[in-house]
Amino acid sequence: MKAAGKPMDAVPSPPEANEAGIPTETAGPETVVVATIPPPYPQHPRRRLGLRARVTTAFALGALALSGALAGIGYVAVRSSIVNQQVDALRHQALANAVILREELLRAPKSSIPLLLTTLDSGPNTESLVFSADRWYRSFGTLSPSQLPKLLRARVLLGGAPSQQLVTVQGTSELLVGVPIPAQDIKATDKTAYFEIFDLSDLVRTLHTLLAALSIAALITTVAGAILGSWAAARALRPLKETTRAALAIAGGSLDTRLESAHFADLAALASAFNHMVDQLQERIKREARFTSDVNHELRSPLTTLANSLSVLEARRDELPPKALQALDLLGAEVRRFRRLVDELLEISRFDAAPADISRDEVSIGALVEHTVAATGSDVPIQFAPGMASRHISVDKRRFERIFANLFENAQRYGGGATLLAVEDHGAWVRFLVEDSGPGIAPEERERVFERFSRGSTGRRRGLGDGTGLGLAIVSQHVQQHGGRVWVEDRPDGGARFVVELPGQVEDET
Ligand code: ADP
Repeated sequence: MKAAGKPMDAVPSPPEANEAGIPTETAGPETVVVATIPPPYPQHPRRRLGLRARVTTAFALGALALSGALAGIGYVAVRSSIVNQQVDALRHQALANAVILREELLRAPKSSIPLLLTTLDSGPNTESLVFSADRWYRSFGTLSPSQLPKLLRARVLLGGAPSQQLVTVQGTSELLVGVPIPAQDIKATDKTAYFEIFDLSDLVRTLHTLLAALSIAALITTVAGAILGSWAAARALRPLKETTRAALAIAGGSLDTRLESAHFADLAALASAFNHMVDQLQERIKREARFTSDVNHELRSPLTTLANSLSVLEARRDELPPKALQALDLLGAEVRRFRRLVDELLEISRFDAAPADISRDEVSIGALVEHTVAATGSDVPIQFAPGMASRHISVDKRRFERIFANLFENAQRYGGGATLLAVEDHGAWVRFLVEDSGPGIAPEERERVFERFSRGSTGRRRGLGDGTGLGLAIVSQHVQQHGGRVWVEDRPDGGARFVVELPGQVEDET
């Protein structure tokens, strides 16, 4: 509905914004809120990991967590068991030495303690200390009694109970065991105690080796988990890949493509639904193509009758009054256009019914191009790039001829005739250039002119009423069937240049 008092061609004023920041537009008495519609997809879509990468990462992280936990629990359990065993064994050794020392002290005088210390069964990296009658005696003399922890000394000397303590001295782990030695004489007040210091470096090294082995095992398990995840994801995605491939093949015209249900074990229902959908699609396309083809065939006979009647009338032009002549010319033009339309629709419907139906021959480009130009009745000059005339190409000759017949016809109609047909070498591709010196095609129309029933401004402007808008669509169709491309660009000296690019044979005839 038109807004009262508003001129038709008025330039709309920019929408105002309300308090909520939502732009509004004023139309008559009502205010229309123009909601800002969010785009259907994020403008800067986040790059997301593919399914396979995500499954692989999940497997790797799962394997890492599981193996890490198992390695951790294993390490703690083994460590405490080894440490306890070692500590027990060393404590027993210290107790045994203390017993020996006590027995020796019963027999020998105190002055012989240093000598006694050297005879005790102590392993390497072990030191012994004896406290007796307020004096300290040491085996090697490297360890000072002041280095013994106060708490340990107090527990052994004052508490009178055997005691042990794990300490780290200058980065080295040591076990200190203190054993009180009861006095020979029950009334004696002298305290005697035996201390033994064990170096635990070997034990620590063993534990480090164990930790390293468990870490490597966890790492290997993680890598194995990642490999397993990747393999499992690849297997799980195989049906999807096959489905994608099949869908692309169908979109490319291979309507006979189907999914093999046997490969889809768990997804048999998907495969059969997909196949059923393609069956239906194929059937529908065939039905529609048959219908179009039947309609066109049915139109042909009345058209032929019409054309024949027209020829009879045209043969008697002299007998017709001027007004009837005018009507006859108009009718003639329309019948010709109608015939052309029916022919082109028939060609298109044949393509739609069997898009992959193409019979190729291997021919030399020189002979093919010359034959095509002669067959279309054109006298366009031909120009071959060096070696191109002798090169071979695999084409459907009928379709190839049709492509250039249409391009020459258009060049004639819109550009005063083709000025050149050039054949260029582009490695694995051969380019055929058809040029004319007409008005060319505006850049914004260059894609659209290849669509069905699309007529460019050139056709409309020049009043060329017999165009159907199907000629370039047929060209594009035939070129695609050959696996090539077609486009239009500007001719350097003005005019249009249609470029047909087809895959060429690489080897030379020589
Ligand atoms: P038709 O010629 O029947 O209209 P086509 O599919 O052959 O249909 O061409 C589509 C449109 O492309 C034409 O209407 C015309 O505007 C434009 N066109 C085609 N060839 C040329 C050319 N050589 N020069 C200029 N315009 C062209």
